[in-house]
Amino acid sequence: MPDAHAPSLLSPPNRRVGALVLSVGAIAPAALLTGPWPAMAAAAASAAGFFAALGWLARERNRPLGDMGTSTPRCTVHCDHALALTQASPALRTMLGLSEVPARGTSFATWLAPGAALPLADAIGRSRAGGGAGVSLRLRMRHADNGWRDVDTRVRAVGARAVLECAVVGRRVRAPAPDALTADDLDLALDGARCALWDADLDTGTMRLSPQWSRLLGAVAGQTVTTMHELAQRVHSEDLQDVRSAWRRVLKGEDPQCRVEHRVRCDDGRWLWIESLGRVVERAADGRVLRMSGVAIDASERRQAQAQLADLALHDPLTDLPNRALLTDRITQSIAQAARHGETMAVLVLDIDRFGHFNALYGHAACDALLCEIADRLRQVLCHGETLARVGGDKFAVALPAATAPERAAGVAQQLIDALAAPIRVAGEAPAVSACVGIAMCPVDGQEVATLLRSADIALAQAKAVGPGQMQFCDPQVSARARRRLLIERELAGAAARGELWIAYQPVFEVASQRIVGAEALLRWTHPQLGAIEPGEFIPIAEACGLINPLGRWTLDWACTQARAWQAALAPDFRLAVNLSPLQLRDPGLVDAVCAALQRTSLAPGSLVLEVTESVFVGDEPQALDTLRRLKREAAAQLAIDDFGCGYSTFGSLRHLPVDRLKIDRSFVRDIPANAADAAIVRAIVSVAGALGLDVTAEGVETAEQLECLAAMGCAHAQGHGLARPMNADALTARLEHVVPRAA
Ligand code: C2E
Ligand code: CA
Ligand code: CA
Repeated sequence: MPDAHAPSLLSPPNRRVGALVLSVGAIAPAALLTGPWPAMAAAAASAAGFFAALGWLARERNRPLGDMGTSTPRCTVHCDHALALTQASPALRTMLGLSEVPARGTSFATWLAPGAALPLADAIGRSRAGGGAGVSLRLRMRHADNGWRDVDTRVRAVGARAVLECAVVGRRVRAPAPDALTADDLDLALDGARCALWDADLDTGTMRLSPQWSRLLGAVAGQTVTTMHELAQRVHSEDLQDVRSAWRRVLKGEDPQCRVEHRVRCDDGRWLWIESLGRVVERAADGRVLRMSGVAIDASERRQAQAQLADLALHDPLTDLPNRALLTDRITQSIAQAARHGETMAVLVLDIDRFGHFNALYGHAACDALLCEIADRLRQVLCHGETLARVGGDKFAVALPAATAPERAAGVAQQLIDALAAPIRVAGEAPAVSACVGIAMCPVDGQEVATLLRSADIALAQAKAVGPGQMQFCDPQVSARARRRLLIERELAGAAARGELWIAYQPVFEVASQRIVGAEALLRWTHPQLGAIEPGEFIPIAEACGLINPLGRWTLDWACTQARAWQAALAPDFRLAVNLSPLQLRDPGLVDAVCAALQRTSLAPGSLVLEVTESVFVGDEPQALDTLRRLKREAAAQLAIDDFGCGYSTFGSLRHLPVDRLKIDRSFVRDIPANAADAAIVRAIVSVAGALGLDVTAEGVETAEQLECLAAMGCAHAQGHGLARPMNADALTARLEHVVPRAA
């Protein structure tokens, strides 16, 4: 909407304009600081400051008085106190050769020649002081054709705004080429070099900055840093230390020149790298530094180029994977970290089988593409913190971080080998691509990068000797252990589905009557090739790889079904004990699963005993304790502390725990009655348990003497090879049919 005060045509020319402007020039910039628009005047004075005033004065001296009568074209512009356009007649576009009328809010200073904002602000200030009287001045403005236009301008302050009536004087102006370079030349040169000048007064902490500052930082003209403190706030926190110490060295006289590269925050939040160079330009009589001056150069492009070069130096140009140099760096870091915490880490070397053959068959270009595809597949195997590098033609290496156990290394090696299994197309064909991997563990196989890589190479050669798609550790013992573990992990996942799992039941006897009152369910795994695998071996692996929950539920389901059959046919009070891993107690679905199993099988309430080790009660795991309480409350299960005496629970703590039974660990039973200390411990456990109303079962009873001793101490229940070994369900059914048990 046109402003009521906006004339559509320029007012008649004012012949006094030249004289007026010159007199303004004489009082600037001091008058501006006390002018009617202090904020803008102060900003203009400090931003454009010294340099701007210099440029302006130089131009004014050379300028002939204009004749507004010949001026054309012309336009009217309204702007706010910060020179932002609020309205402009379309003629502004023609006057400055713009492709479209500038948007509202665009700064009028955009087109002003360096140093012109200051006299304009002054003119507006004087018009305001004169109650809106017209003040004339000549401005130099930048035209889209890159030339300058001298523009006679009549300024009137209207309310909070200023109305500028502009008329171009003459045609395109080329700056005269004086003998010496002018301030304009300097401005242009600084603009071109993306360089700004700064001048710091150390006494007052103020900083004067050339207008290029605003342009570098993306601010509108006049908005520049004005104090050293403000500048420091724009500096990136990571660079502040460098900036401070560079200045400190100059101030202390240690360096003649201050030179530092740092990031500054632009107005739009971007970080701009600048190189700042400066020196002392004024000292007090006592030698104290009063002023420093210098330049700030936009260093972002150079930094970017340097970063690209550095990146090139650390990466393989074909696959863009880290190269040997970066790999060495990563391995060095991992070794140091592993050494600090007494951990192990691993280095893997992978070599493509028969790659030379592919090269001969398909040519180099096709094989380059093949290598890129291989690199992509291998890359996908790795997790954060693991580095894959290309270290030779068809050779890759992997650095695994600290805290990598041999099993993890073997797992990664296997995944790398597997990643190449799906067909890869090369030159229209899909040849079988495979790779061998050699693994070196730190510290066993070396504690330095070179040694580790050599060890991995040795292991790789061994793997190659076995055949394609093989992996090998450098240390054969580590190799055997890790391989077996990996194999067990893989096989265990499908063991239940393949029907390889079964449950052995070890009868629990009442000591007094020597009658079977129940049994402990013990998981068994018979693998077709590996044979019987001990729970002591596969349970920890199941815990480590997240298989313990499904395994635990499988055991619970089958054992409950079986126990229910015994309750129904042979022993109505048969008690079933099932082991729970501490990890199962973290499973939020455990309580529901137990309830469901009991419901489904209709096992007699209270006849399920869940055995957990002491660590669960002693550890600071409120969630585990909560789960135990829920198991008692919601599933009516009994809870037993397994291997009692081995852990750290005290008799005192038993009072507060939701426990019904203790199972005395085998190690205390083994040497009784001969070992008096052990006998005393067992006696104490039995007696405290009795006082607390807890039932006691002695584990690992192998001899008649042990059983007699336990009977004499008042131990209610016993379990052990001497009474009965763990057996399959059929065998226990037969035992239950012949009620009377036999002690060894
Ligand atoms: P545990 O709970 O302490 O089970 C008793 C272990 O002692 C069983 O070994 C059993 O065969 C053995 N044993 C019983 N009587 C004697 C004896 O008189 N002398 C000797 N030397 N050993 C005896 P097993 O079956 O190898 O189980 C080892 C451990 O594996 C178990 O220790 C238990 O912690 C774990 N385990 C077994 N089955 C399961 C299961 O289904 N779930 C969970 N979470 N753990 C299980
Ligand atoms: Ca047990
Ligand atoms: Ca036990």
